[in-house]
Amino acid sequence: MQNFRNIWADTLKILQQRVSVVSFDLWIKSLEPIDFKDGIMYLSTTSETAKNRVLKLHEEQILDALKEVSDEIQNFKVLDPEESKNFNLNKIEPHKEVEQSAPLCNFNSKYTFENFVVGKSNQVVYGAATGVANHPFTKINPLFIYGGVGLGKTHLLHAIGNYLRKTRPELNVLYVTCNNFTTDYVESLKSGNASANSSFRQKYRNVDVLMVDDIQFISNKTGTQEEFFHTFNDLYQNNKQIIIASDRPPKEIATLEERLRSRFSMGLIQDIQTPDYETRLAILQKKCSQENYNVDEDVVNYIAEHSDTNIREMEGMLHKVVFYAELLGKPKATMDIVADALKDIVDTTTQSVTPERIVDCVCKYFNVSKEDIVGKKKNKEIVEPRQIAMYLIYEMLDLPLMKIGEIFGGRDHTTVINARTKIEQMYKENNRIKVCVNDLKNMVNRI
Ligand code: ADP
Ligand code: MG
Repeated sequence: MQNFRNIWADTLKILQQRVSVVSFDLWIKSLEPIDFKDGIMYLSTTSETAKNRVLKLHEEQILDALKEVSDEIQNFKVLDPEESKNFNLNKIEPHKEVEQSAPLCNFNSKYTFENFVVGKSNQVVYGAATGVANHPFTKINPLFIYGGVGLGKTHLLHAIGNYLRKTRPELNVLYVTCNNFTTDYVESLKSGNASANSSFRQKYRNVDVLMVDDIQFISNKTGTQEEFFHTFNDLYQNNKQIIIASDRPPKEIATLEERLRSRFSMGLIQDIQTPDYETRLAILQKKCSQENYNVDEDVVNYIAEHSDTNIREMEGMLHKVVFYAELLGKPKATMDIVADALKDIVDTTTQSVTPERIVDCVCKYFNVSKEDIVGKKKNKEIVEPRQIAMYLIYEMLDLPLMKIGEIFGGRDHTTVINARTKIEQMYKENNRIKVCVNDLKNMVNRI
C-alpha cells in the first residue's frame, strides 16, 4: 500500500492546478491526512466552517484527484477538530517526512496559450512561442525570451510544453530552471561515478525539446556554463529545439561566456514588455472567469490602474481581494473592501507621500510653478494653491507647523495656521474648494 501521506501530497499537486489560488490557500492547503483505512482517506480541518466550505466547494474535485493518484481510494472524509479528537489517533503512523516523489506533471495546466492574453506588449513574443510550438526544429532555434519579472515568460514556456504534449505526445520535452540544471550537474559531479554522469547526460541529451528558465542565474557558474555549452551544441547539432527564458538579454548577463552569448544569438532573441492598461484589464478579466471569481467591475478597474509593472503582483492583488471577500462571507468582491484587503499595499503608498509630492501635485493641478508656490507672490492664482498645499501637508502628514513654514520659503508658523483655518472653513462652505481638496488627496495617494 502507498503511504497515505504521499497520496495526499500528490493529490495536493493536482488540486493546486485545478482549483483557484484562493480556495487552495484558504480551504485545501490546511487539510491534514490523518488516516487511511478500508479505502477511505481521513482528513482533518481547522474548523467546522472550513469543513463545510471545503465539502461544499470541492468535494468532487478532491475525490477525483485522490482516485487519480491511487486506485486504492474509494472515498474520503473530512473531520472537524471535534471529530478528529474522537478519531482513534493512536493508529496514526509516526509522522514521516513526505517522500519527494517525482512531479506528476511537469507543466502547469493553467499556463496555456488560451489563457495568455495577447496585447501590444507581448504579441511578437507570443507569435514566436506559438511558432515554435507549431513548428519545432525549424527556423526559430533557439528561441530566447527575455523580460522583467512577472511578465509571462514562464507562462509561455509552459504553454509551449502543454501544447506539444497535446499535439506531439511522442516528443520528449524537458522544462528545467537554470537552478535545476545546475543542481543536477553538481550532483552528477559530486557522486563522481560514471553512471551518475551518464544519467545526467541521458536526461539532458536525450530530449527533443529543452526549455531552460531563468538562465540569467548561470552567470558566475563557470562549470555549469561549460556543461550547458556542450549540451546546447549537442542538441543543436542533432536538430533539437531549445527555448530559453531570462530576465535580461544575453548581452546584459554578466560573465556570460562569449561563446554562449553567440550561441543564443543564433536564433531569435525576443523581449516581452510591460502590458498597457487594456491588456492588464483583459488579463484580470480572464483570471476572474478562469478562477470563477465574482468581482465587481470597479474593483477590476482599480487593480488594473494601480498595478502596472508586474502581472504576478497584479494577480496577487486580485487574489487578496477575493480572499478577503471570501473570509467575510461576501458573495462578491466589491469596492468597499478593497482598502482593507490591500492594506499592505495602501500602507506603502501612504509611506511614500511626502511634502514634495503634495507640492508637485498641487502645482500640476493648478498649473503653477514650484518657485511661485514657495515664493513671495501674493496674487490670488498663487496664494490659493499655496494655502491648499499647506493645508494638505498638515492634514495628510501632520508635520509641525514650523516645518511646513520652512518648506514654503521660511514662512512663519502663523501663516501656516491662517492657511489651514481658511481652507478648513472654505472646505465646508465652498464646493469648488471641496472638490479641489478631494481631487488632490486622491491624486497624492495614487502612486
Ligand atoms: P515571469 O516568468 O516572466 O516572471 P510568469 O510567467 O510567472 O512571469 O507570470 C506571472 C503571472 O502572470 C502568471 O500567473 C501568469 O499566468 C500571468 N501572466 C503573465 N502574462 C500574462 C498574459 N499575457 N496573460 C495572462 N496571464 C499572464
Ligand atoms: Mg519565471
